[in-house]
Amino acid sequence: MLTANFIDALTSPRNLASLPDPWPESGLSCQADVLRLDRLHPQFSGNKPFKLIGHLDAFASSGKRALLSFGGVWSNHLHALAALGQQTGIPVVLVVRGYAHLPLTPTLRDCADWGAQLVFVDKATYRRRYEPSWQAELADEYDALVIPEGGGSDAGLSGCRRLASVCAHYDEVWLACGTGTTALGIAQGLNELDAATTVVGVNAVADQGFLSRHWSSLMPGGINWRVIDDAHGGGFGKVSPAHLALIHHFDALHLPLDPVYTVKLVAAFLAAEKQGLNAGKRILLVHSGGLQGRRGGGLDLPLT
Ligand SMILES: *Cc1c(COP(=O)(O)O)cnc(C)c1O
Repeated sequence: MLTANFIDALTSPRNLASLPDPWPESGLSCQADVLRLDRLHPQFSGNKPFKLIGHLDAFASSGKRALLSFGGVWSNHLHALAALGQQTGIPVVLVVRGYAHLPLTPTLRDCADWGAQLVFVDKATYRRRYEPSWQAELADEYDALVIPEGGGSDAGLSGCRRLASVCAHYDEVWLACGTGTTALGIAQGLNELDAATTVVGVNAVADQGFLSRHWSSLMPGGINWRVIDDAHGGGFGKVSPAHLALIHHFDALHLPLDPVYTVKLVAAFLAAEKQGLNAGKRILLVHSGGLQGRRGGGLDLPLT
């Protein structure tokens, strides 16, 4: 089944690779590997599948017809959910923030091609996406299990816990964070394994310390962690010329990065490297995917 294949794929040598050395003259001060979740599957890749896998158990026992969730017109989450629907035959309903009269983005084009039903709502309606009453209406109308935006929640966490066994071999595991669910799930898994790995979250959102406070209350007591809060580069989705240059640099090294999350992860890692903070460590960078979103930044898809 889907889940077992995914977990096997993680340990395939193809998906666990050394970080290409961006400075061949001086070299890196640590042993850095990359977990290439972007390479798990041609359509269904990155961290989102792990968050979604956790929801499949709830779906199986829900008796519902379809899966429904929310997102923007470039959403990696909606893209992954549509791919999941196509792979499993489960009908998928995507509630999209935006307007039906605009041309479909390549992201939504893919989703529609894979058979997902797109439901466009205006921005005011979309703001209600966390309201239980609206979620209940949608669940009724589409006979669907509602997955929160971004795939968070306990079910999302449980799928991400499965990533921990790969991370447990390292001193530190670094991830780009949005909601921080993936990293928190990994931390829970590491705690269950009694691993000494430190979890490092590179915040892609300028959130005034929200993620740090969230983790302070929810991180398992046995886990060392830190949040890097100065790598968002001006805010969520903001891409500076330096980020673009880094993307092109790593394209040439065959490590394609996305402009919203993974380029900020690598930039933060290299900044720590320059400060000598990584010396002698074994570090795993999680490539959380998102490459389909490069099309939103005017970047080509990589040819891998
Ligand atoms: C959604 C996403 C993230 C953030 O995941 P969280 O679990 O919300 O922290 C990171 N990287 C990519 C590429 C994503 O699509």
